[in-house]
Amino acid sequence: MLVFYSATHQQHHPPFEIFDGGEKVPNFEVPERAERILTALRQTTWANILVPEDFGLGPILNVHDNGYIEFLRTAYTEWLQIETDAPYEKSALLPATFPPASWRHKPETLLGRAGYYMSDLSAPITAGTYLAALASANCALSGAKAIADGEKSAFALCRPPGHHAGKAGCAGYCYINNAAVAANWLSEQGKTALLDIDYHAGNGTQDIFYERADVLTISIHADPDYEYPYFCGYADEHGAGVGIGFHHNFPLPAGTDTTGYLKSLSSALQLIKSFGAKYLVISAGMDLFGGDPLGKFKVTKPGIHQIGLEITNLNVSSLICMEGGYNNAALGENIVAFLEAFQ
Ligand SMILES: [Zn+2]
Repeated sequence: MLVFYSATHQQHHPPFEIFDGGEKVPNFEVPERAERILTALRQTTWANILVPEDFGLGPILNVHDNGYIEFLRTAYTEWLQIETDAPYEKSALLPATFPPASWRHKPETLLGRAGYYMSDLSAPITAGTYLAALASANCALSGAKAIADGEKSAFALCRPPGHHAGKAGCAGYCYINNAAVAANWLSEQGKTALLDIDYHAGNGTQDIFYERADVLTISIHADPDYEYPYFCGYADEHGAGVGIGFHHNFPLPAGTDTTGYLKSLSSALQLIKSFGAKYLVISAGMDLFGGDPLGKFKVTKPGIHQIGLEITNLNVSSLICMEGGYNNAALGENIVAFLEAFQ
């Protein structure tokens, strides 16, 4: 299997994030995640690890707002230039003011734009964030090109992850929506579906494709009524305009085990089959695993392999994009268990 990995991800290493209740904690989304996965893949006989091609900004700007990507590019440098006599370090940019949905005036100042383009306190922008996010998107695009060129499957070892990044905003460790960029690119080559199996609702992906009928998007995740991202990912959200009927959410209760998960997966796969997808992009978050510190599901490693097997029964060319997964000790073996189903 072709695997796309860029060491540039290491330049993105936010020192902290802010948890619910205002607790400042070390950022869960660390470079070690991708390195653990890389190590596990190197121990297999089938992973052919390649450096991604550079696709430029074109495919990224086809799904993301121009002003947002420009903000990502310049925000950290601007942040350093702001004079302040406050004693805090400027290791990462996070805003403290966020607009409610009805306030859409875009301010000129950096901190105003930060609140405008950043949705929460878990996607800090650091010196290396923009370059790492670009490299991550290039991993997804290189994988997309590989399956368009005839590979049955490919794995994009994306870091930072992408599925919480919407058209014009970063959130939840995500800056550029790698899977959405790849799915949009693939949709120009053939009918494309996107299945998000990360534990958290793929709200960014939902935002990007919500009014489109040409890309089917489905997310299976923890019910946002009790879990991040809270405001999106409910069962009654089915798309808008011409996109009505082309988005589906499967919110699941805390404690969902492999058996419960596979029931929703079966319904999701039936929708993909009926849609007649030529290509499938999978947002593969391994935080559905029972031992994940940020998750409340009880899916096992054999269960993760089984999820992969069920997906391969579709017999559709598949690009697997890495999303979340924060049990670092188990992360490599979990994603290998998933990918082995595609062998
Ligand atoms: Zn997640």
